[in-house]
Amino acid sequence: MKYISTRGGIEPISFKQAVMMGLARDGGLLLPETLPVVDEDIQTRWRSLSYPDLALEVMKLFISDISEDTLKHLINISYQVFDTKEVTPVVALKDFFLLELFHGPTLAFKDIALQLLGNMFEYLLTQENKKMNILGATSGDTGSAAIYGVKGRKNINIFILHPHGRVSPIQALQMTTVPEKNVFNIAIEGTFDDCQAIVKAIFSDLEFKDKYQLGAVNSINWARVLAQVVYYIYAYFRVSEQTGTKQVTFSVPTGNFGDIFAGYIAKNLLSNKIYKLILATNENDILTRFVCKGEYKLGSVIPTISPSMDIQIASNFERYLFYLYNRDSKRVKEVMLNFSKTGCITFSQEEQKRTQKDFISESINQDETIATIADVYSTDKYILDPHTAVGVCAAQKLRNNFNDIPIICLATAHPAKFPDAVKRAIGKDPDRPDALKDLEKRKQRLTVLPADISKVKDYISQNALI
Ligand SMILES: *Cc1c(COP(=O)(O)O)cnc(C)c1O
Repeated sequence: MKYISTRGGIEPISFKQAVMMGLARDGGLLLPETLPVVDEDIQTRWRSLSYPDLALEVMKLFISDISEDTLKHLINISYQVFDTKEVTPVVALKDFFLLELFHGPTLAFKDIALQLLGNMFEYLLTQENKKMNILGATSGDTGSAAIYGVKGRKNINIFILHPHGRVSPIQALQMTTVPEKNVFNIAIEGTFDDCQAIVKAIFSDLEFKDKYQLGAVNSINWARVLAQVVYYIYAYFRVSEQTGTKQVTFSVPTGNFGDIFAGYIAKNLLSNKIYKLILATNENDILTRFVCKGEYKLGSVIPTISPSMDIQIASNFERYLFYLYNRDSKRVKEVMLNFSKTGCITFSQEEQKRTQKDFISESINQDETIATIADVYSTDKYILDPHTAVGVCAAQKLRNNFNDIPIICLATAHPAKFPDAVKRAIGKDPDRPDALKDLEKRKQRLTVLPADISKVKDYISQNALI
């Protein structure tokens, strides 16, 4: 399988090259040249597989330049660190199913992709005798999942910027209490936007980027999308076993369109098994407006109790555009360049219809989110985190569209990561799992720097692997 850019400006490359490239050199995003078909016979074979074995079968379709033995090993060591053999268990509640994606080391779904990506990076760098310095900015979940994905690995250092004193205490501690020497936490005296602007500026200094072999871990890496395709297929099998259903609908709390894009790929692979994808947003509703009104228009970011979905520009959206525009990369390029000037893309009636064949969407406000946590606690004695609650609330509002088709809501984080929202909803803190228990007692390591590009560059130069 070869990979191409949504903007058509690169020659097809291999999977390994795609993983190392991250963002395509022409500014586009990488996608497989074709989407494989998974027929009924294959699906029958896949049904009985364990999570890691299913992951191997799915990924083999997209990876032709890593041997099967190596890939199996990388998958196995990535998912061994999860606290359940099932990796992503499906739980039946009264009105819907929950796909628990928070059993990895940092208790959010990003572990599923970043544990694998960390192992892949280490393997590829060692094989090619190269080094890499990962640089990223975080407002919460991504930073800790990325740090846990590469901590202690050979040939990799990681530098994560977060706004000093402005991420939740638990999220900050998850990042800063990691003792491994290849982890560098930079607390910026500024906002998340400052952090992101600094990272962007450093990446655009190509001389600096090449000298220090800077790598990115944001959700534009194809390997992250691929790792996430697996749990949609796994969950479909589990629910169809339990209920005999031939179709399911997924509800996906969405920010950067990464997770739900993986669902879109899974929907294509399994043809008609996934009926629809519910795209659930919080008050940052650009993607809901896209699905419902055919307009993708930037607004300003509203901070909410589901902070990992507080985004305006959805970095994976361009991948979907490529398919919506019938793989017309010239048009994708034009539209994206225009979008960077105007902040707006509009869609024809016909395009809107096609989008609505795959997606249905609802935006959920914070009061509804809190009420949903309270409701589900009273009916099922199950505590949702606020991101998951956005997806559950959207599913409940849209339920009439699905008749008897079961709904599987993605549970993207453990509630203990967001105790304030949970306490507002049910009057008490969620129990802390072992991974978070003595967090406050662990030793912290971080460097506070001003929001100054050259200061951050100096710090990286002093600590980078070269
Ligand atoms: C990142 C994140 C999301 C949003 O996922 P996208 O891939 O950006 O759409 C939702 N919930 C949680 C808990 C997250 O960490």
